[in-house]
Amino acid sequence: MKTFKCGQCGGELEERMIDYPISQNGEVIILENVPVNICRSCGEIWFSSEALSVIDKAASYTEKPKRTKPIFVWSYEEFAVAV
Ligand SMILES: [Zn+2]
Repeated sequence: MKTFKCGQCGGELEERMIDYPISQNGEVIILENVPVNICRSCGEIWFSSEALSVIDKAASYTEKPKRTKPIFVWSYEEFAVAV
């Protein structure tokens, strides 16, 4: 992967692997180790066209993954209430 500048703010991009949530048949599934570029200044996440096509492929895949892991969940209301 080449070094690009952030298309949003011109900041420096950092290559990273992230766990990306996708929706597969109405269920949330985590796609692990997606290579992305994250902007060090504004935090914008940039996906390569290759990564996007892999994400699309996973999202339209009909079979369920064999592995599961618990995910923590917040409700919007827990943050929306005035402190
Ligand atoms: Zn940026």
